[in-house]
Formats: sequence, structure tokens, C-alpha cells
Amino acid sequence: MKTGVLGLGAMGASMARNLQQAGYLQCVWNRTAEKAVRLGAELNVAVADDAALLAQQCELIILSVSADSDVLDVVRALLPGLVPGTVVVDTSTVSRETARQVAELLQAAGVAFLDAPVSGGTEGARQGTLSMMVGGDAAVVERVLPVLSSIAATITHMGPVGSGQATKAVNQVMAAGINQAVTEALAFAKALELPLDKVIDVTGSGAAGNWFLDHRGPTMSNGKYDPGFRVALHHKDLAICKHMAEQFDVAMPIVEMTLIHYRRLMAAGYGDEDISALFREKLGLFDSSGERPKRP
Ligand code: NAP
Repeated sequence: MKTGVLGLGAMGASMARNLQQAGYLQCVWNRTAEKAVRLGAELNVAVADDAALLAQQCELIILSVSADSDVLDVVRALLPGLVPGTVVVDTSTVSRETARQVAELLQAAGVAFLDAPVSGGTEGARQGTLSMMVGGDAAVVERVLPVLSSIAATITHMGPVGSGQATKAVNQVMAAGINQAVTEALAFAKALELPLDKVIDVTGSGAAGNWFLDHRGPTMSNGKYDPGFRVALHHKDLAICKHMAEQFDVAMPIVEMTLIHYRRLMAAGYGDEDISALFREKLGLFDSSGERPKRP
């Protein structure tokens, strides 16, 4: 199945590499052309001059862009080149409403759509081990499953269009809670003057063990916050979760608190760091001066 990738950021570029290795990649496109040219040369694959030209050449089109308006922009740019029967799969994290809007736009052009956000971080994208949560028609999922299997190890059909993004919103609330718990606990351990490497090992081997502690514990305790998953992106996701929760009139204290913490980090210039940069905030809690650490 001839496959194109639009959006060659931290996630999309790795997806393109895995698709190339599996023999599916036909063409790539990126808004900032240099990135596409560089990846095209590395993978020896065609680079489209615009989204519509990519659409003309591909049976399956995979998107990985930042936010809701970006997905809508890219889909509108694809429309003039789309051929009926094509499948568009969006792996970006956006709202359920955007997924439904995109499906409607594409349906009018005879094109099927799956919302298929992913979890597993940049490591998962590199290794092709992402967990993918998919909304859309079951028969379409079946049709593209062999291709998607080259970028994700777990692919779960959740229901109609929008269910993938709804599931991802649930995932992002969990990720916020885990980030809060791990960064706060490790800042507490540091204040207690415990050896952090041993704390990470011993707690990670018991009931408190989790992916974030294993992967980000060692880096954050060494003051390294390379992305990873950027604070600004998780902030965008949690704003979506907050908006979705408003219709149920429930409080989501972890979401509210994390949005405040991320806003402070972004204002201090840490928005492009990994979400484990929340450790900076938590270290400030144990600082007797009450001051949050300043950017060096
Ligand atoms: P990233 O590295 O910032 O890359 C974003 C990509 O989107 C870039 O290629 C960018 O193009 C493109 N883009 C943004 N706005 C656009 C627009 N209006 N038109 C065309 N292209 C546009 O982000 P990422 O980490 O790969 O994340 C991509 C998506 O996956 C996001 O929705 C994110 O929430 C989700 N996600 C990320 C992770 C993670 O760990 N990073 C994990 C799971 C899901 P330029 O190069 O021109 O800027």
C-alpha cells in the first residue's frame, strides 16, 4: 500500500523511517521543507512539493502534526489531490470534535478517515512499539492494519471516529497524574537526602514502578530534560481534556493543577523541554526560600 507521511517532527520522522523499512513509504511532506528534503535524502524517498501532490501519489496518508488547527489546515491542503478510496490516518493528538470534523470533510471526497493517536513517546515511535488507539470504520482499520503494524506494536479499535482521540484524552490525564506523582516523590526523596538512583531502582521494582519512572527518573535526577514529550504539547492535550470534561460538570484536579504548573514552566522558558521538567517545580516546593529554581 503506497503510503505518505505529512509532518516530519519528532514522531512523524520516526514513523516514516519505520514505514520505509517495511517497504510502504512512497512520499513525504513537511511544512518546513528542509526537514523533508533531509529525510527524503536519508531514506531515498520522494519529497512532495505540497500536500495535494503527496495525496495524488498515495493510497494511505498518515498525518503527524501539532494541534487541532494544524490537522484541519493540512487536511484542507490535501483535498485537491485526494482520490476516492484513499485512507487518511491522523496520529496527532487533537480533540474528538476535530476528528469528527475531518471525517466529514473527507467523506465528501470519498475518502475514509481514522483518528489514531499514539502513546509511547519518541522512543516508541523510533522502535515502532507505539500503542495506537483507533476510531473509525472497523473494515477500514482491517484494510490498513498491516501498514500501521510497522509503526505501532499495539493497535486497538475503540469505536467510531472520535473514539481514538477520546481514549488518548484518558491516557493524557493518566500521564499527568503519573508525572505529578513521580516528580513530587523524587523531589521529596532528594529533600530527604536519599540516593536518587537507588530510590528509582528500588521503587521501580515494586508496586510503584512505571514507564515514566524507568525512562525519565534517571534523566530528571541528572538535571536533563531533553524531549521526549514537550511540556507545550502535553499542555495542549490537557486543555483538550479540560474542555471535554466541562460537559460532565466534574472537577479534574490533576488536570487543573498540571495546566497551572505547565503554564509556569512555559512562562519561564521551559515549554520545549520534556514533561519531566515538572521536577523543576517540585524541587522548588522543598526549597526553604520558597523560590522556584530560575533558568540558568
Ligand atoms: P513536533 O516534533 O513539534 O512536530 C510537529 C510537526 O507538525 C512538524 O513537522 C511541524 O512542521 C508540523 N506542523 C505543525 N503545524 C503545522 C501546520 N499548520 N501545517 C503543517 N505542518 C504543521 O511534534 P511531535 O512530538 O512529533 O508531535 C506530533 C503529534 O504527536 C502532536 O499532536 C503530539 O501531541 C503527538 N504526540 C507526541 C508524542 C511525543 O512524545 N512527542 C507522543 C504521542 C503523541 P514544521 O517542521 O514546519 O514545524
